[in-house]
Amino acid sequence: MPELMPHWLTKQAELSPNKTAIELPDGTEVSFLELKRRSQLFAEKLFSIGIRKGAKVGIFSANHVDMVIALHGLSYLGAVAVMLNIRLTDKEVHYQIRDADVSVILTQNKQSSFHVPTYTFNDIEALEGQPAELINEIDLDAIFTIIYTSGTTGFPKGVMHTYGNHWWSAVSSMLNLGLNQHDKWLVTLPIFHVGGLSILLKSVIYGMPVYLMEKYDKQQVHQAIMSSGVTIVSVVTLMVRELIDQLGENSYPESFRCMLLGGGPAPKALLEKAKEKNVPIYQTYGMTETSSQIVTLSPGDALERIGSSGKPLFPAQLKIDAEKGSIGEILVKGPMVTQGYYNKVEATDKALTNGWLSTGDLGYTDGEGFLYVVDRRKDLIISGGENIYPTEIESVLSGMEGIREAGVTGREDIKWGQVPVAFVVLDDETLTPEKILQYAAENLASYKLPKEIHFIDQLPRNASNKLVRNRLTSLLS
Ligand code: ATP
Ligand code: MG
Repeated sequence: MPELMPHWLTKQAELSPNKTAIELPDGTEVSFLELKRRSQLFAEKLFSIGIRKGAKVGIFSANHVDMVIALHGLSYLGAVAVMLNIRLTDKEVHYQIRDADVSVILTQNKQSSFHVPTYTFNDIEALEGQPAELINEIDLDAIFTIIYTSGTTGFPKGVMHTYGNHWWSAVSSMLNLGLNQHDKWLVTLPIFHVGGLSILLKSVIYGMPVYLMEKYDKQQVHQAIMSSGVTIVSVVTLMVRELIDQLGENSYPESFRCMLLGGGPAPKALLEKAKEKNVPIYQTYGMTETSSQIVTLSPGDALERIGSSGKPLFPAQLKIDAEKGSIGEILVKGPMVTQGYYNKVEATDKALTNGWLSTGDLGYTDGEGFLYVVDRRKDLIISGGENIYPTEIESVLSGMEGIREAGVTGREDIKWGQVPVAFVVLDDETLTPEKILQYAAENLASYKLPKEIHFIDQLPRNASNKLVRNRLTSLLS
């Protein structure tokens, strides 16, 4: 028997029709009833161009209300939304379109380069709808979205998310953070990533307004937290740094209760600075495969456990493939974990064993079960038999006054096998490699000291803004 529940948006439109679902920086508000009405009309228009249950439909757009409507519209038809990253190169996006068997693409602006029929949201809006049997009950085992991993360690893979994965992700987060009557969650992360998308689904499941921004802008985000009643924001490390600078000597309003930080490592110095300024940072750990966070700090622990990503959310489990207390691969399990990659049986079998996902990340837990993520397994440097984790060195270097950011990779070495080499982006042009090494030596064991320091204008990042260390390696040759 399929596990069914009322369509989330239809249900919320019944429960809180007049409550705001989406608020925009220009003051526009869309209620849940309005959002349902517009999404259902959009579904009928999509039906008129032949979109049916199970169709893979690409969404290629910056954050926008029309994008949200398109997403819910697809769910009313039981079609699958393939969320495409608009920062990818043509070649990368073409690969994903082919790989996911996308038959139609919906875009915000006209696009001519795709090889499948492409419609703007406005093109669809302008169509006559065709009466369609819209979905009233969601099947929790049906696939709702496909989102590609960032491709930081290899080729991106299309992660399939069922409605059940998204449901449990939303519920698990609420079991950790709780829900206040006046909660308003700021969406500044792109919706084409699971971290952004998950906020929209929480909105519908919780009956909570989102404050939707087209893209991240530090001033706008700062303003929204200071004066628009935002209580929670999801961010990545680069944003935290800028927002803290923006905050200066001020403090956020009392009602602002959570800055949920995910997507990658966070230097300790930055987290400590945030603590000093009373910024309520909650570090999380998760990935596309876990439908966003699966391990998160809780309100009681956030300020006390700097550097930890917390404990697995209520319905999730965690284990480390190593002796107790040692560093090993992180394995996770839970109802928010994907059932696999689209059309990739081998990769799926490799990643999933009895529901346990091998994350490819290394970490350890302390005696009380708090997770500390150390690094990606693929980026481990082994030097003279010692394990060196690039993230640790990056974290130290980026904590030095005058260094904006740092990237570390391994270089082949006849004597040691591999040695760490650092790439540094400077704020203070007068810093020399000697000064940096002197600082590093005060904070790192000698075998971890970078053997070379290269200055660079910016670190190589992929379309998800993640540091790609193997591109650093190729800069060396
Ligand atoms: P690919 O799988 O294609 O190489 P990716 O792993 O970067 O790309 P995402 O799913 O966007 O794709 O990112 C998830 C990864 O981000 C995690 O596996 C982990 O390496 C990193 N990450 C997430 N949260 C944290 C954290 N709290 N600390 C350190 N790393 C983190
Ligand atoms: Mg990954």
